[in-house]
Amino acid sequence: MEGLKKYDFIIVGNGLAGSLLANELLNKGQNILVFGDPTMKSSSMVAGGMVNPVTGKYLAKTWLIDELFGLLFDYYRGLEREFKASFFHQTGLFRPFANQESKVNFLNQIEKHQLQDYLEVQDNPTDYSPYFSVNLGGMYTQKAGWLDVPAMLAKIKEKLLEKESFVESKFVHEDLMLDNSGFRYNDIFAEKIIFCEGFYATQNPYFHWLPFNPVKGESVLAKVNNYKIKSIVNQGKWIMPLGNDKIRIGATYSWHELDFEATERGRDELVTNARKILNIEFEILAQQAGVRPSTKDRRPIVGEHPHHKNMFVFNGLGTKGVSLAPYFVKQLLDFIFIQKDINPEANIERHYALYS
Ligand SMILES: Cc1cc2nc3c(=O)[nH]c(=O)nc-3n(C[C@H](O)[C@H](O)[C@H](O)COP(=O)(O)OP(=O)(O)OC[C@H]3O[C@@H](n4cnc5c(N)ncnc54)[C@H](O)[C@@H]3O)c2cc1C
Repeated sequence: MEGLKKYDFIIVGNGLAGSLLANELLNKGQNILVFGDPTMKSSSMVAGGMVNPVTGKYLAKTWLIDELFGLLFDYYRGLEREFKASFFHQTGLFRPFANQESKVNFLNQIEKHQLQDYLEVQDNPTDYSPYFSVNLGGMYTQKAGWLDVPAMLAKIKEKLLEKESFVESKFVHEDLMLDNSGFRYNDIFAEKIIFCEGFYATQNPYFHWLPFNPVKGESVLAKVNNYKIKSIVNQGKWIMPLGNDKIRIGATYSWHELDFEATERGRDELVTNARKILNIEFEILAQQAGVRPSTKDRRPIVGEHPHHKNMFVFNGLGTKGVSLAPYFVKQLLDFIFIQKDINPEANIERHYALYS
């Protein structure tokens, strides 16, 4: 142990998962070292960052809606205060009815699933014309918005660098040595290690056996002259107002070609769908692609390795990382520090039978 640099935690990955965990651990006074490799592209850097409590064709309430949405607004606002920066935008979200049939269907769903606390029906939402066709009305939720994930991660990285808690390099799993007291990596020793590698966990020798189901996604950045809409508008695809006449249009879903390359197919899909809902011209400025760390059962994977004590995973944030992360950061830290159980639907223990 002589000459080793000692830490309480090593964290591998500084996307949304690793960065939020790292920030909480620093605030708890822990001595941590985060590995982040900027040449390994991350889902977080291209995320739309949207939070929306009621999603999908059938108006499904987000899983754990009350727990997640009871926490996340205060959580991100707290981070804005901590970093004296603005990166969380509670814009609200409007979903115009596309036709009479879908209107009737959605009104029935609101009733059936008791979504009145989250959705308000607007019969005459004139604010959205002339940009959108809203003559059938639509549904509005105020509990929606978007997190500028890259802006927040940049602030957390600055703090990590200031505290000498960040190494800009790839973590090489083969160089990790395990013994009863902890984890040794070259001249570093840590008592605990947390892997937050997003999609790359599929190549992690300790956790590759987990049932990941990564999903590629693309979005485009566009310019609309004199765009005055303040809310996100969603009808199949979403259109997010970024300010200064810029909008982001997203997103696509593909379970093939799991890479970070923007494609013509992705762009065509987004542009064609945006033209169906947006009544005025827009100019594409940029396109982005990433791979979401989704899982087969569409739940996060949080907890301790079945065989290696003090080795943890925080992954599987999938399509809703911004909504899920605050709650599950707390769940993992409560598990580590006060042995509190992790939600069984997210706990890695549900997959232990797959480990051999
Ligand atoms: C197009 C698109 C749109 C999206 N829109 C939304 C949205 O609107 N709302 C929402 O909530 N979510 C959205 N998401 C999903 C969101 O991006 C993810 O849920 C979340 O960002 C995942 O964070 P993560 O930290 O788990 O993974 P990542 O962001 O992928 O981070 C993993 C990090 O680990 C690093 N890493 C991995 N292995 C190593 C290693 N060996 N050494 C060093 N570093 C390593 C990588 O470089 C990376 O930085 C979207 C995703 C995409 C692709």
